[in-house]
Amino acid sequence: MQQQPKKIVVIGSGFGGLSAAIRLAAKGHEVTIFEKSDQPGGRAYQYEINGFKFDGGPTVITAPHQYDELFELAGKKREDYLTLVSLDPFYRIFDGNGDHFDYWRSQQQTEEEIKKYSPDEVAGYRKFIKGVTDIFNWFHPFTEKSFPTLWSFLRIFPHVIKTGTWRSMYGFAAQFIKHDFLRKVASFHPLLIGGNPFDTPSIYGLIIQFEKQWGVHYCVGGTGAIIKALCKLFEECGGTIKLNAEVKQILIENKRAQGVEFKDGSVYEADEVVCNGDVAFAYKNYISKTLLPKPMNLWLSNLQYSNSLVVIYFGTKKKYKDCRLSHHNLILGNDYNKLMRDIFQRKILPRELGLYLHMPSQTDDSIAPEGCDCFYVLSLVPNLDGKINWNDLMDEYVDKVLGFLEENYLPELRDNIIAKHAVTPLHFQNNLNSYKGAAFSIKPSMMQSGYFRPQVKSNWFDNLYFVGAGVHPGAGVPAVLASGKIAAAAIEQ
Ligand SMILES: Cc1cc2nc3c(=O)[nH]c(=O)nc-3n(C[C@H](O)[C@H](O)[C@H](O)COP(=O)(O)OP(=O)(O)OC[C@H]3O[C@@H](n4cnc5c(N)ncnc54)[C@H](O)[C@@H]3O)c2cc1C
Repeated sequence: MQQQPKKIVVIGSGFGGLSAAIRLAAKGHEVTIFEKSDQPGGRAYQYEINGFKFDGGPTVITAPHQYDELFELAGKKREDYLTLVSLDPFYRIFDGNGDHFDYWRSQQQTEEEIKKYSPDEVAGYRKFIKGVTDIFNWFHPFTEKSFPTLWSFLRIFPHVIKTGTWRSMYGFAAQFIKHDFLRKVASFHPLLIGGNPFDTPSIYGLIIQFEKQWGVHYCVGGTGAIIKALCKLFEECGGTIKLNAEVKQILIENKRAQGVEFKDGSVYEADEVVCNGDVAFAYKNYISKTLLPKPMNLWLSNLQYSNSLVVIYFGTKKKYKDCRLSHHNLILGNDYNKLMRDIFQRKILPRELGLYLHMPSQTDDSIAPEGCDCFYVLSLVPNLDGKINWNDLMDEYVDKVLGFLEENYLPELRDNIIAKHAVTPLHFQNNLNSYKGAAFSIKPSMMQSGYFRPQVKSNWFDNLYFVGAGVHPGAGVPAVLASGKIAAAAIEQ
């Protein structure tokens, strides 16, 4: 039966908000997105500085079918809006000595890399890949559904035991692989979603197979071009986006969301409210404390939050043609175990650096002025529980990271930079409204996953929904797109 069109508010225009908004607008609902910032995208905001286009956050794009689905819902073809190119190797991973491992889509090419380090490990790596394929086959279907009851979650536990996914990602890899660096190569994926490989359950190993199945892609024009395309699609479906529109409060009456209120006191009434703002920040700040059950506040405060990041966007006046870098680079450092402990447990600034370096101008000329290269480097740091004074430390830290890159990968870097911007954990807290400045919201652990993670449909208030990194299925673009799908389906029901 066709539903009556509803008036729906979406707070925030990250990937999760856009996914929900497009689906609902395509169904004929009257959908308005209110976005705090001057541009859509959230973590995928694209900075344009001196002719360079810097993607603010997500760069590893996978699962093109998720985008195809959004365009098809509106009777359109994704290819008419954006161009994806597949990347291989997926990643170049540097060890502490500066040697690198190219991580390919193909098993055979990856095995050749393994042989360079230790030929004896090939058999173990095959078993590891078989293990993560099983994990993917068992658990991927649950990433597009919610867990409304504890029982619905407990039912998957026999598979958790069977596949051994209660082990940490690193522990899972270590069952099959002995070589220390190869174990790290096999188990780094939790870092992409704010988890520590040494304690994130290997159920998240499904990401490894997810990438292998659907490839790693780049969108011409950067991830910002995907955001532009999704906004265009949304508007073509009849949706409206209001920028520079920060919601101050979600209005609740009789346990029902009624709409939203802005700083100037104006109100927008709606039948349904979808919040793409960080779920913990939203529960703590956008809903009157008197309406929130006490255990809820306590629960949110006691959850563990992901790490944060310092991200430096920089463009150079020359091209680093013969450098050792690939499009996606991971630099894991010598004392990786201590690095992870410092960031996730001790919450202190590690002496060593753990870096991801993005060099999109290797793939796309349109991203930088002619003859120039475009980069961003992200450095793993603790979230704001770490009590680091980023206002005082920022310049020194940025210089440390750039100095490291200059010494090891990009000679004379600092003299060649002609465009630069940097953000610290304060950006995640103050601009993106993320609790504790966490870059990936609530940390992915067993007790903070599935049923134990905040759900898309609020447990406390009718017609209030959350989409984005803090709710099930978690952080990362594919997961937040899925949360938008879960929300739209729940509203349609
Ligand atoms: C540096 C970095 C690199 C990453 N790299 C990758 C990657 O390569 N691949 C990948 O898959 N994932 C990556 N991630 C993770 C991924 O970017 C995120 O999980 C995902 O983009 C989060 O999307 P979201 O829907 O939760 O919304 P967000 O991007 O967090 O957007 C939420 C939006 O809500 C708005 N908002 C908040 N409060 C309000 C309010 N009160 N009123 C109005 N608007 C409000 C914010 O301004 C923001 O625009 C990366 C993350 C970071 C930080």
